Amino acid sequence: MSESYLLRGAKPLGGEPADVLVRDGAVAAIGSKVPAKGAEVVDADGLVLLPGLVDLHTHLREPGREDAETVESGTVAATLGGYTAVCAMPNTDPATDTAGVVEQVYRLGQEAGRCDVQPIGAVTVGRAGTQLAELGAMADSAAQVRMFSDDGDCVSDAVLMRRALEYVKAFDGVIAQHAQEPRLTEGAQMNEGALSGVLGLRGWPAVAEEAIIARDVLLAAHVGSRVHICHVSTAGSVEILRWAKSRGYPVTAEVTPHHLLLTEDLVASYDPIYKVNPPLRSEDDVAALRAALADGTIDAVATDHAPHPVEDKECEWLAAAMGMTGLETALPVVQQAMVDTGLLDWAGVADRMSVRPARIGRLAGHGRVPEVGAPANLTLYDPSTPWTVDPADTASRSRNTPYAGRTLPGRVVATFLRGRATVLSGKPQ
Ligand SMILES: [Zn+2]
Repeated sequence: MSESYLLRGAKPLGGEPADVLVRDGAVAAIGSKVPAKGAEVVDADGLVLLPGLVDLHTHLREPGREDAETVESGTVAATLGGYTAVCAMPNTDPATDTAGVVEQVYRLGQEAGRCDVQPIGAVTVGRAGTQLAELGAMADSAAQVRMFSDDGDCVSDAVLMRRALEYVKAFDGVIAQHAQEPRLTEGAQMNEGALSGVLGLRGWPAVAEEAIIARDVLLAAHVGSRVHICHVSTAGSVEILRWAKSRGYPVTAEVTPHHLLLTEDLVASYDPIYKVNPPLRSEDDVAALRAALADGTIDAVATDHAPHPVEDKECEWLAAAMGMTGLETALPVVQQAMVDTGLLDWAGVADRMSVRPARIGRLAGHGRVPEVGAPANLTLYDPSTPWTVDPADTASRSRNTPYAGRTLPGRVVATFLRGRATVLSGKPQ
């Protein structure tokens, strides 16, 4: 018998409270005083009901770095963060650059059964940036890959980027670009500016990101094929995206929760927990990113969840790996940066963290706002119970959260994947 739940008094998209009946994998009723009829009643008084979140940018590390994360552990973390679908980045070992490897990751996701895992295919063989991977074979595989990226590295060769855009156009694919001009960022450690000079760390100039975005929105327009810009981090990038969108160019973009909240000042501690790619930027950049997410210039929030084992993070700054975990904290961080500041309402959060990411990734069945007949991919969120982040209390196999000891404003209470509870009362099921 399939699971059935009555979410009593939930607020769909933060609106008026209603009873929401989940049955046979779908939303069966929304209204007042909906009878339970055998459904398990969940007290959702004061809780916001959102469509299940969709992450366009997750590093699950399997195959190859199971000491950092596995599909199983990463998807448990995802469900605790309210996600019902994650797109897995290809910088695994081996890279997901063939039909065989993307199918392997896809099947691991199905076996774990916690949230949908959509593999992202590598653009180039081994992510080496010299030869196009078999994009068509990955698209035709059981995983039906539509998004391709060399994330971790930039597709810096303009001819390869053009060919990739041309190739994926045939099957409505999208190239997700990690925008980082490699020569301008050789040995770069933190945002380039006054502070990098003071700290004696090699600077990572904004122009290294902006130059690639400018090139790629022009290439996408020229080819008539979709480009998606990963983890936008500078005010200048926002201006280029705004210009490209005003001209109708086929470009979408994402921002991470950490780039919406944290600034480069934290690097003064030399604590490598704050070492990330792209680097934390200035207060002005953060303000521009928030404004761009609010007005839709930036389409989506994506976590760039990047787990690393202790030995790769708890070392001196120069030796430390770049990256932060993010799945379990994304929604409360977005609440703090965007909702509590009045920049987005909950409908806006649903749009930027579920509806638009599902559309960009072409993830059928996800990104549907709660309505009768929609698949019951849902998240129940409590926006008014603050909690303090303890890195030891995480489902991720890695502990490299930048929010350790910080108090975040809310927490996911329940997550449903096609009507089945993957999280209830804040606990994995
Ligand atoms: Zn990246």
